[in-house]
Amino acid sequence: MRHIISPNVYDVAVVGSGAGGGMAAYVLAEAGANVVMLEAGPMWDAATDGDMFTWNYTSPRRGASSKERPFGEFDGCIGGWEIEGEPYTHAPGTEWDWFRARMLGGRTNHWGRISLRFGPDDFRGYSLDGLGDDWPIGYEDVAPWYDKVDQLVGIFGNRDGYYNEPDGDFLLPPAPRLHELLVMQGAAKMGLPVLANRLSILTKAHNGRPACHFCGQCGRGCATGSNFSSPSVLLPPALSTGRLTIVDNAMAREVTTDREGLATGVSYVNRNDMQEYTVRARTVVLAASACETARLLLNSTSPQHPAGLANSSGVVGRYLMDSTGASVAGIFPQLVGRTPHNEDGVGGAHIYIPWFGYDQKRDFARGYHLEIWGGRQQPGYGFVDGIHTVNNLFEDRPRGGGGYGMQLKQDYRDLYGSVVGFSARGEMVARYDNYCEIDPDVVDKYGIPVLRFDVRWSDEEYLQIKHAQEASRNLVEAMGGEILTPMPSKEEGYGISAPGEIIHEVGTVRMGDDPAKAPLNAWCQAHDARNVFVTDGAPFVSQAHKNTTWTILAMAWRTADHIVELRNAGAL
Ligand SMILES: Cc1cc2nc3c(=O)[nH]c(=O)nc-3n(C[C@H](O)[C@H](O)[C@H](O)COP(=O)(O)OP(=O)(O)OC[C@H]3O[C@@H](n4cnc5c(N)ncnc54)[C@H](O)[C@@H]3O)c2cc1C
Ligand code: SF4
Repeated sequence: MRHIISPNVYDVAVVGSGAGGGMAAYVLAEAGANVVMLEAGPMWDAATDGDMFTWNYTSPRRGASSKERPFGEFDGCIGGWEIEGEPYTHAPGTEWDWFRARMLGGRTNHWGRISLRFGPDDFRGYSLDGLGDDWPIGYEDVAPWYDKVDQLVGIFGNRDGYYNEPDGDFLLPPAPRLHELLVMQGAAKMGLPVLANRLSILTKAHNGRPACHFCGQCGRGCATGSNFSSPSVLLPPALSTGRLTIVDNAMAREVTTDREGLATGVSYVNRNDMQEYTVRARTVVLAASACETARLLLNSTSPQHPAGLANSSGVVGRYLMDSTGASVAGIFPQLVGRTPHNEDGVGGAHIYIPWFGYDQKRDFARGYHLEIWGGRQQPGYGFVDGIHTVNNLFEDRPRGGGGYGMQLKQDYRDLYGSVVGFSARGEMVARYDNYCEIDPDVVDKYGIPVLRFDVRWSDEEYLQIKHAQEASRNLVEAMGGEILTPMPSKEEGYGISAPGEIIHEVGTVRMGDDPAKAPLNAWCQAHDARNVFVTDGAPFVSQAHKNTTWTILAMAWRTADHIVELRNAGAL
């Protein structure tokens, strides 16, 4: 195999082009650095490659998901739970579902755009309940960068002043729709708070990008750039500086180092010719997503770093976290057979229920929030939650099947939009014993050793999800609905998602002031190699129950600003 080393020495090499990589490249290129970005997938542009305007009925599959497109036929992500030739393995008896993107912009092309800030409590969990660890920084250290992200990207929401749910620099939120008004009524009966959602979707034109036109197809990638993705917001200005070079189809293998143990660049396999290349750079920023970044560091062994780069503490790969998750849905007679009216909106909920148990005595740690789904979205395969599962819930309808002919058509018209559901997203406590490591026996099709996962939920997470199940079920009843599924038993884990399934993985290369306990310092800079930084979710010390990407973006900007300062001071 040939090994080609680039003649250029870039100021910075960034691995990954999603939230963390896109932000690092944007800030560094704007600040004058010559940046090379390695991206494992192909180039992709939602304006030309996406399917925002496609009707499900134009396809024989009617938009149904497939192995290659688990979130629907027209979803805007190349990747999936399984990628051909790129396996990962598990310790016996354990589960970890790993969703990976392989495309320019990574998962930011199709993510849900729920853009919550972590609050002050989320940075000091150990001080509050003695579990996990505190971050080496607090909310006030990240707040200025959250503000910058809000202003650059655009986010809607209300300034609610709700405890531990910091407000941002918001655009006006869209009004609640019919099913969301019903949720608000039920929540009021139970004394639950309901806030306007906080989504990185433009409700008015912002920084040269047009307002959302309410097509509801954010998951397909937005052709008008009205929501956040790295390729629509971060990469164009970075490219227009003339200082960003993107190398696509470049699967990074390892960070190369010199005799001092400092990074000299990144080696990668070009997926087109399967040859080995190395880009050289004075600084390396890893943002391949939390688990891939841990994998890269663990595979970067050398005499100076025998256990892997930045791993003298031995904790790279450890403290892996994901959100807990569970869903409950109900069908609502008030919504059946309703007069059709305009229920258009953004591609996500207009409201959410923040964690409401801060003052409650409870038998589990931390909290969760409830995401809401429902309404009349574009019909596709399996809509109305599978009509055969719901039409037999009503006395005056045929029972036990989907029906046919006129009755089936009438059922579809009547039942369309009558199901409303709640998805809990809760905080998992960080634990040393939950980890990924290199599997000594398995390599991928590029010859790169793969990850083996060993992750388990604890009682904290099970009991938290039991609480979420009960609260969601009570809410369906308070709204006057019929719950669609029985309460899962303790033996069924109360219906908790598999670890990894909620796709909020963080924590594998944590921050900390003590190099013996954490690979990164408070600026996401490796203790063991001062020119190596991490800007994805890997540095997180806790996961919070908040969706993680807004914090990835804020932290990535903060880290990139620090790199600029160090470069200007001649310290890199
Ligand atoms: C369906 C879905 C819905 C979601 N909804 C939300 C939400 O509403 N709110 C929220 O906060 N989060 C959400 N998320 C999570 C969110 O997408 C991630 O937190 C975010 O994209 C992480 O950013 P990242 O830069 O770490 O990784 P990514 O965005 O995945 O980018 C990583 C990039 O690195 C590349 N890469 C990987 N390995 C290598 C390698 N070895 N060499 C070179 N390149 C490599 C990948 O191809 C990819 O482009 C959702 C995710 C999914 C899948
Ligand atoms: S709902 Fe709005 S932001 Fe989402 S894809 Fe449609 S136009 Fe774009």
